Amino acid sequence: MKDLVYYSTRGDSRSVSAAEAIVNGIAADGGLYVPSFIPQITTPLTALAALSYQELAQEIMQLYLPDFSAAELQLAISQAYDEKFATPAIAPLVNHAGTYFLELFHGPTLAFKDMALSILPHLLRIAAQKCGLQQEVVILTATSGDTGKAALAGFANVSGTKIIVFFPEHGVSPVQKRQMVTQEGDNTYVVGIEGNFDDAQSGVKAIFADEKLRAKMASSGYIFSSANSINIGRLIPQIVYYFYAYLRLLARGEIKEGQAINFAVPTGNFGNILAAYYAGCMGLPIAKLICASNTNKVLFDFFSTGVYNKERKFHVTMSPSMDILISSNLERLLYHASGEDSQWVKKQMQALHNQGRYSIPAPVQKALSDFVGGYATEAETGSAIKSVYEQSNYLIDPHTAVAYAVVQKYRTAAKDATPTVVVATASPYKFAKDVLTSIDGKYKNYDDFTLLQEMEQLTVQALPQAIKELEKKPVLHTKVCEKDEMRQIVENILGL
Ligand SMILES: *Cc1c(COP(=O)(O)O)cnc(C)c1O
Repeated sequence: MKDLVYYSTRGDSRSVSAAEAIVNGIAADGGLYVPSFIPQITTPLTALAALSYQELAQEIMQLYLPDFSAAELQLAISQAYDEKFATPAIAPLVNHAGTYFLELFHGPTLAFKDMALSILPHLLRIAAQKCGLQQEVVILTATSGDTGKAALAGFANVSGTKIIVFFPEHGVSPVQKRQMVTQEGDNTYVVGIEGNFDDAQSGVKAIFADEKLRAKMASSGYIFSSANSINIGRLIPQIVYYFYAYLRLLARGEIKEGQAINFAVPTGNFGNILAAYYAGCMGLPIAKLICASNTNKVLFDFFSTGVYNKERKFHVTMSPSMDILISSNLERLLYHASGEDSQWVKKQMQALHNQGRYSIPAPVQKALSDFVGGYATEAETGSAIKSVYEQSNYLIDPHTAVAYAVVQKYRTAAKDATPTVVVATASPYKFAKDVLTSIDGKYKNYDDFTLLQEMEQLTVQALPQAIKELEKKPVLHTKVCEKDEMRQIVENILGL
């Protein structure tokens, strides 16, 4: 068999190695990198069930990274999935209220982004070496809260890298802000801006597009890169935990080998659920992929009608990481579902850009029949939190609650009794106010840190160490700038 390489979803016929795909982040034609074929898992699932999370990661990720040696990959895995995670299981599968929850929030920032962002910096460092890159890699990120902290934690003290994060000074939760401004590491820079998330995002995009600045950087030995979720180096690590969840059910005798299960995924940019799709294509027995949205239900409409239409009202919800109208990673699914028709994908993406919408023909829609779209309103999300808590003293965060609510509706409507795993993407402690007020309105006027104490009294889940330390940690980043000063700040940090 030919070695696995990567192509753009938009028709550029040049292939790149995995290392180049990770370093580039996005293809030159604006497309996303996709593997030239989806590798099959050949080891029997019963044999894989005996592996630790790290050993399983090695088995799966090696298939997508043929240009990485086993030793290089093993080093990256051991540096990523270590004591930074609060449990040696890394991604425990638990059972509460008659439902399986795959907990992906035991990493340093208490959200599922840690699953990929704890390993991406190490993959990037190795990939840069392979590509003969002499420059220092500067990661530049705008964040609405979660991604910035996960990227900071991942890149802190990784040699050959610097990370600069801009966040809206008045637009993140107190816990999120504290998480960022207390970030340690001599290569980390955190700057608040007087503006909202869109201002931060636009500022970063403008800096990326500034050719003069790039040239100045190159002559000082720097290149820009990004840690956002379209990098294939974020997608690949996420495939691992879908296998891991299945293998736990198998090891516990709750399913038979080969028996298909459903996964329900709270979805925003479509990265997490796309990793589940890849797992299924590799041979993991998956029946339905339940794509759960909040009131920003562009994906629900897409799966039910075949029309993707981003021209609609934007809703701010209590599951902010899913408040997204352009789910970038859907482009990769379109590529596979259309039989790798990159010219067609390119046209749809142009239509999305120019007209705000596109629609897919019946054969492509048919190829997506393993997906089920669903959505939950804010009221349904709150009720889901309350209902799971009342059944089991287990607290779920608002993102996880969206998926749980969608599963309940789907099961009733489709009369589907297939074992279903709800992917739990954030710790309830990260969204203490919304979680507790969903249970009892009296919590409305509590401050964030008092809520954490209250929460620990209520639930079987211990207050995470990462939050306990937060109050005591010294503030290390105090810089705040106007939105038109971002470029100057970057130049100052890099000494240009
Ligand atoms: C990012 C995020 C999501 C959405 O994941 P996508 O890969 O963007 O679909 C869901 N929940 C939480 C808590 C997140 O941080």
